[in-house]
Amino acid sequence: MLAALGVKTVQDLLDFFPFRIDDFSRVQKLKDLRPGEKVTVAGRVVSVSIVPSIRGRALRVGISDGTGTCYLVWYNMVYMAKQFYRGQQLVASGKVEWRRRSWELAHPRWEQTGEFSGQGLIVPIYHATAGLNSSMISRIVREALDTYGHLIDECLPEPIRRRQGLLSQKQAYVNIHCPRDTQMWEKARRTLAFREVFFLQFALLLMKSQNERAKPVAPYTDFSLPQAFIESLPFKLTGAQQRTIDEIREDLRSGRTMNRLLQGDVGSGKTVVAVWSLLAAVANGYQAAFLAPTEVLARQHYKTVVGFTRGMARVGLLSGSQSAQEKRITLERLAEGLIDILVGTHAMLEPDVRWARLGLVVTDEQHRFGVRQRLRLSYESNAPHMLVMSATPIPRSLAITLFGDLDLSVIDELPQGRKRVYTKVFEERSRHLAYERVKKEVAMGHQAYVVCPVIRQSKSGRRSVEQVYEELKTGYLRGVNVGLAHGDMPREDLAKAMQEFVEGKVQVLVATTVIEVGVDVENATCIVIEGAESFGLATLHQLRGRVGRGSKQSYCFMIFSGESAESAARLKALENLHDGFSVAELDLRQRGPGQFFGLKQHGVSEINIQDLGVTQDILYSARQEAKALVDAIEASGQLPLELSPLLSIVNARFGNLLQHARSR
Ligand code: ADP
Ligand code: MG
Repeated sequence: MLAALGVKTVQDLLDFFPFRIDDFSRVQKLKDLRPGEKVTVAGRVVSVSIVPSIRGRALRVGISDGTGTCYLVWYNMVYMAKQFYRGQQLVASGKVEWRRRSWELAHPRWEQTGEFSGQGLIVPIYHATAGLNSSMISRIVREALDTYGHLIDECLPEPIRRRQGLLSQKQAYVNIHCPRDTQMWEKARRTLAFREVFFLQFALLLMKSQNERAKPVAPYTDFSLPQAFIESLPFKLTGAQQRTIDEIREDLRSGRTMNRLLQGDVGSGKTVVAVWSLLAAVANGYQAAFLAPTEVLARQHYKTVVGFTRGMARVGLLSGSQSAQEKRITLERLAEGLIDILVGTHAMLEPDVRWARLGLVVTDEQHRFGVRQRLRLSYESNAPHMLVMSATPIPRSLAITLFGDLDLSVIDELPQGRKRVYTKVFEERSRHLAYERVKKEVAMGHQAYVVCPVIRQSKSGRRSVEQVYEELKTGYLRGVNVGLAHGDMPREDLAKAMQEFVEGKVQVLVATTVIEVGVDVENATCIVIEGAESFGLATLHQLRGRVGRGSKQSYCFMIFSGESAESAARLKALENLHDGFSVAELDLRQRGPGQFFGLKQHGVSEINIQDLGVTQDILYSARQEAKALVDAIEASGQLPLELSPLLSIVNARFGNLLQHARSR
């Protein structure tokens, strides 16, 4: 069950941080209770009784503190009755409700006051999973801390810790899981967040410094093939595309390795730039790789690249869903140099893939990969040149943090003739208006997406893909071909569902965010996003980018099912905001930088870093400290001994950077 949460070792367990704490340490008087509040109450047991309830029997324990009375209630757990007796001193916490003409706390946490110190009632709250709730996780983590806590090593250099006012590593782990008070919890969070960002920065900056000192590579000289490709296009490049290509050409001509990040909003035409780069490698006698985050996208790119490069290059596809036979043939041809450009998924990263002379790797939709994968790719492939592309615009301040080892190009201009996607937020009760538009669009021969936040019905009450699929098929969209796509389907079924939509056999595709990345269906003019408040602005913007890819007027409807006016306003902002960089800036201001790490930037701790509440201040100071350390290493030309614990952690996390440094 822990493995389902990504926890496989004791270290993983310690790194599984609670995302918040509930502070029950302040006891409230019973006369001051208000319904719906989470409270801690204390008093003496005045009655213990078993009463009938709708679902069986309930245990009611009355307590009084002299100012009032309140009942602790357990349904169908009457066997607990023997734990209580009149006069017993209790403290209990939970949500208080006014029921049966008295105050009730259903299934509260409780303790006998003798044991109550006021401290045990700061409750860490963990992301739970089926069969494993937050308090069970808390117990397991405490046990691990008791048993293995003495093995926790310090890893940040002492002067950095002192300058930044951070806890020791051991104190930090103890206080994030079992805080003495709220302040200590905050301090532990800051310490651990700093550490995460620092490791990342240190790895990236070390990488950059190594790249800069890497052996020279043969400069590319022949650009006639990519030029011919550009001339064969039915459209003219935008200024931003041209500028980016010029920047890449300079890199490739320089005799130094290219490590470039290309950021461009959805639909800005990054693929053309990718293909130009792939062909530049081919023209200069190298093989090139085009790496996509999903099967669907790999196939789509394969088709696009084949279409674009007809007669210019030999293109192959490698994807996880191919038969062993197909894969073997592709790999053989690759090793013999009979394939110039290989398009594929992460299957290309596996060690059994041998290249005849790999020269350049383009990674699409980088935000779907972790930093670790990116670094691994760069040194395992031994490809001198790397271009990574991302359609998630990231504010510049953050881009240098997350991609500190890369040079940056930006495509900040859309091809001409694109219409803005008409964007509107609907309240739950106006939801039908969105589907009426879907019906109209379908009647006009267009297609639509419907996106839901979860696959299956759950306690959260958010609309699920399965539920909406059934509802639409039998309701609003009866008679329309509706498809279903989500990440829990077998890979082939998912690919098939997408394919049918791409081919126009299916008019409306109900899906989770599996459709978020790169899928390009020009005929799709409408997207409805259910439970839109569950998504970050950047994701919503990405989803919106699935429509409006042709010249037809397109629509994006976000269904707001939340409660707070604040989160409704957050969505409303998208009605008038159409540029990805502005969306990203707004997201950064509203929710802090943590979520950008959540875009799988980070490998191991990608779940946790969000829960640590990374702030801009932490980003900044961690980067400063990492930079100073890497500068010192560079200046002295060696790695000081006292850094070895730090280096072994960084190496374990991001692959063996130092070994790589030597081999280069
Ligand atoms: P993204 O940056 O989101 O990956 P794509 O590369 O998929 O965008 O491009 C979106 C669409 O725009 C594609 O159909 C592509 O052929 C087209 N396109 C790219 N560049 C231009 C251009 N300069 N003028 C017109 N259309 C273009
Ligand atoms: Mg793309």
